Amino acid sequence: MATYKLSTVPTQGDRITYENGTLEVPNNPIIPFVEGDGTGADIWRASVRVFDAAIDKAFGGERRVSWMEVYAGEKAFTQFKDWLPQETIDAMQEFRVSIKGPLTTPVGGGIRSLNVTLRQVLDLYACIRPVRYFEGVGSPMKDPGKLNIVVFRENTEDVYAGIEWKAGSPEAEKLRLFIETELGKHIRPDSAIGIKPMSEFGSKRLVAMAIEYALKHGLPSVTLMHKGNIMKFTEGAFRDWGYEVARDQFANSVVSEGDLSRGGANARADAVIIKDRIADSMFQQLLLRPDEYSVIATPNLNGDYVSDAAAAQVGGLGIAPGGNVGDGVAVFEATHGTAPKYANLDKINPGSVILSGVMMFEYMGWNDAATLIVRGLENAIKSRRVTYDLARQMPGATEVSTSAFGDQIIKGMSA
Ligand code: NAP
Repeated sequence: MATYKLSTVPTQGDRITYENGTLEVPNNPIIPFVEGDGTGADIWRASVRVFDAAIDKAFGGERRVSWMEVYAGEKAFTQFKDWLPQETIDAMQEFRVSIKGPLTTPVGGGIRSLNVTLRQVLDLYACIRPVRYFEGVGSPMKDPGKLNIVVFRENTEDVYAGIEWKAGSPEAEKLRLFIETELGKHIRPDSAIGIKPMSEFGSKRLVAMAIEYALKHGLPSVTLMHKGNIMKFTEGAFRDWGYEVARDQFANSVVSEGDLSRGGANARADAVIIKDRIADSMFQQLLLRPDEYSVIATPNLNGDYVSDAAAAQVGGLGIAPGGNVGDGVAVFEATHGTAPKYANLDKINPGSVILSGVMMFEYMGWNDAATLIVRGLENAIKSRRVTYDLARQMPGATEVSTSAFGDQIIKGMSA
């Protein structure tokens, strides 16, 4: 067990444990949270009230969470001169399930993304982003309810691994010369260089998690989204490894789209269909035939783009949740940034962190609390008393503050 100097471990509560691939959740788990930068404080204040109200209503005092504040980002730097204290990482590892608000990341220099660092050091290899429509939210689509997908984005590899060098740096020059002289490929002298590693291990475990999710939730298909027509040895291999893991580990419960169309499959009627789409086509398909897709498994960069694009389709960028999940460790987080211009105005939509909490409770097996929160949010939106971002897309809606929207969600749990 780690020693905590910056954070206080709650005196009441127990640790979530992980044995033989199963999470054991006590009735009073300790859950670390990072409030987040910018609008994070406003959002967390509203979210935690919604979480506690849902747990109370669902379990009548039998279960509760002991929240433990841990520090990252600007708050950690201001108070402790450390953007990401080691003990925050230790707490997320030790207590197994945690939740965080958005953190500032400077563009083009300065510190490395804290979010990316956390995903890598905790080996949270899947970024899971469910995208669905909430009735009443304004959307640019004619029929936004047709989109209901869960994106599994590989979280530790690809060009996101952070292996890159500045143009003109000695490292970029050394690499350029090596590639030119030893491998016979030309790169312009003033080039920055980034590396795109994608492994069989990393790709297969991500696709396996996506298939397991589809099976557990009775979902019809898993689509491997890749750009393998151009990047044959990375993205193309991702597709091949995906089909391989489906065949090797899930032979009795999946069928490939190819086999199905050839009519030769002896698949069960409820088999999950494994298909693949080239990334650019996937974006078109989600606009044109969204109801043909369910779970999408994809490398890091594609996953980043497609999950935000899909969230925009249902009008829900401010309410899109996310979870970073590894084997027995998970960090749930807002998918939007810190929106600093709205900091401390009690104005921003807390929905993304709140729905990330729904994912967290489902991950913990606290489904009754999760269901109540979703019902609360659906009813809050139906009441048309919503934060500014939703109000501006919903004619006749009344704009309410972050905290009032939290109240509306709590009220909606009983409606
Ligand atoms: P952003 O903070 O997501 O804000 C962009 C715009 O999105 C906002 O101005 C606002 O639009 C809307 N928005 C974001 N969150 C919202 C919410 N909860 N409710 C309603 N509207 C919301 O993106 P950014 O300005 O590009 O990034 C700011 C900082 O956040 C950067 O340092 C970036 O690196 C960081 N970031 C962190 C994470 C993370 O921690 N997971 C993710 C992305 C970015 P309107 O102006 O139209 O109202």
